[in-house]
Amino acid sequence: MGLADGVVQSRWLARRAAAWIAGQRAAHRPLARPLDKDTMASLEPYFDSRTLAPVWVREVPRIDPPWALAMIDRVRELPLDFDYLWGITFVDTIVVATDSVSEEEQIPNVFHECVHVAQYTRLGLVGFMHRYLEEWVASGYSYWAIELERHAFELQQRFSAGAAPFSVEAEVVSHLEASL
Ligand SMILES: [Zn+2]
Repeated sequence: MGLADGVVQSRWLARRAAAWIAGQRAAHRPLARPLDKDTMASLEPYFDSRTLAPVWVREVPRIDPPWALAMIDRVRELPLDFDYLWGITFVDTIVVATDSVSEEEQIPNVFHECVHVAQYTRLGLVGFMHRYLEEWVASGYSYWAIELERHAFELQQRFSAGAAPFSVEAEVVSHLEASL
């Protein structure tokens, strides 16, 4: 698929995806809880309190992937390797799959999703989805080509490696500006 096709498709997808995400947020939010004390204490050195305050988490055993299929029903093949679905962020509401994440990976997993919360805050819902899907579609549906994911993983790895506190929000802003 050429880049132009990808751009056209990603605009169409972004509108549908944004509506879908708003619906998912509304469905999961009543069943979610604020971050627990341990998670909050681990994340606070890296995030602005304004990012973390609205974040609620819903735990489920596993995450089924109907979203991507519903979103891209014109595409015949599975676009993602769904083993990757250990967490998904709907604006300020994170759904985590407890069965696919070990105990020690749970806080780094929430860290990763909170990077997406900071990205959503910066880009807005439609802006986030547009960027996310543009790169995904243009690359021929490669999860690892999505810069928003690559950056979330990079920061997650720094956190997991015990890096000195840094500002995720500042990193997100400078990364997004550099990749414009
Ligand atoms: Zn991610």
